[in-house]
Amino acid sequence: MVALGLAGQEKAKDPDLAASGRAAAEIAAHSEAMANLEYLCDSIGPRVTGSQNFDRASRWAAQRFRDYGLQNVRLEPWQISHSWARQSAAARIIEPVSHTIAIVSYGWTRGTGGTVRGRVVYVDASKGDDLAAFRGKLRGAIAILYGAIGFTPPADPLLAPYGQPLEFMNTAKPAMNFRYWTRIYRFLEEEGAAAILMPSDKPNGLLNMFSLGYVNGTGPIREIDKYQIAPLPTAYIAAEDYNLIWRLLQRGSVEIELDIRNQFSDRPVEVNNVSAEIPGTDKADELVILGAHLDSWDLGTGAADDGTGTVAVLEAARAMVKSGAQPRRTIRFLLFAGEEQGLVGSRTYVQAHQHEMSKVSGVLIHDFGTGKVLTIGLERNFEARGAMEPVAEALREFGLVEFSSRPNDGNDDHTSFDEAGVPAFFAIQEPMDYNQVHHSQIDTLDHVHESGVVQGAQVLATWAYHVAQLPGMLPRRPTLH
Ligand SMILES: [Zn+2]
Repeated sequence: MVALGLAGQEKAKDPDLAASGRAAAEIAAHSEAMANLEYLCDSIGPRVTGSQNFDRASRWAAQRFRDYGLQNVRLEPWQISHSWARQSAAARIIEPVSHTIAIVSYGWTRGTGGTVRGRVVYVDASKGDDLAAFRGKLRGAIAILYGAIGFTPPADPLLAPYGQPLEFMNTAKPAMNFRYWTRIYRFLEEEGAAAILMPSDKPNGLLNMFSLGYVNGTGPIREIDKYQIAPLPTAYIAAEDYNLIWRLLQRGSVEIELDIRNQFSDRPVEVNNVSAEIPGTDKADELVILGAHLDSWDLGTGAADDGTGTVAVLEAARAMVKSGAQPRRTIRFLLFAGEEQGLVGSRTYVQAHQHEMSKVSGVLIHDFGTGKVLTIGLERNFEARGAMEPVAEALREFGLVEFSSRPNDGNDDHTSFDEAGVPAFFAIQEPMDYNQVHHSQIDTLDHVHESGVVQGAQVLATWAYHVAQLPGMLPRRPTLH
């Protein structure tokens, strides 16, 4: 049941905006979000871009949109150079003690081609010059890259970004960045290291996951390079095992045995973004976009990353059609592939739809798990804050506080639109246990709370409808260059 305050009752008299209240009430009363999420996670499963599961998920989502009465439902194909799937990974310390290690391969890397045994070398290199000291010392070695790690407590999501895009940014070597990581990787490859082990930055044996395919690209990195197979076996190990190896290394040499097996296609594979619409009326050529990513990692089932966003978008779509909403602008619902490889699906989408970008009034992405939406991150677009004042008022009913202008530093698909100059925003959500859950083996239905998903769908529907009804398009952020 949705409580209407005084402002809500006044709005309800406006026949245009009443549909938004009906959609929110429909979500509260008859949400299908959790049933959809259960099917997506349990019956389809993890959805690595390019996998059969992902393909099933994209077809299922398209059918869901059709069932709900959406229009112009389509699969929009693009290609990745290789699909990738893990088979197995096993590791053991063999000297100076025998100890089994919790290990998982990074995405889009090769396996070890059988069991390899090697001594562990801690490559202590926080800047490029430090690497010279390791020349000639790494043949057949198993390289570890970071010292004993600690855990950063989650920051206040309203004040600072959380869920850092790259795990090594909040570990012991803050100087690490993407370009430097690529340099270290190439060095280890040239020097003939057997494998790289990285600590998961999650506690209690939880593992992390990330894609490494892009390091193989040369020159300007094209999106398809992100799906090349990285040649050096690279794996996460549990923080506790990592710390044990670290302590043993302080006392002497350590040897490890590894067997990592991965599978990949030798030819390009087609994947789909999913698109559906509620056509607009008098401003039908202008667009308001709601989005989430349908792909996931595979240690869990991608329930919180980003199953919750996916089903919130589906539920917003369902309820808006049910409410009889006739928005002035076209509302488009997008579910992307390839987010986990670096926003590849949304970037490809923006490129393919370049001609439409000047007609997109605004984009809102839901991709931070199961927590309630606290507010909307405006990505430095201060002018949009004023233009969206009526929208903010409508969202107060769902507990949202004043919009935040903070950027989220390229963490989700809104960035692809932001880079194209489109007003593109992200839902800032209550963190809950997102930092531990996402990408780990516990990203499953067990860690999803219905109340947050329902509120998320209400926020998406309300935001989209009100932005679609505004007199003008949202203002573009002035560019600095
Ligand atoms: Zn995500």
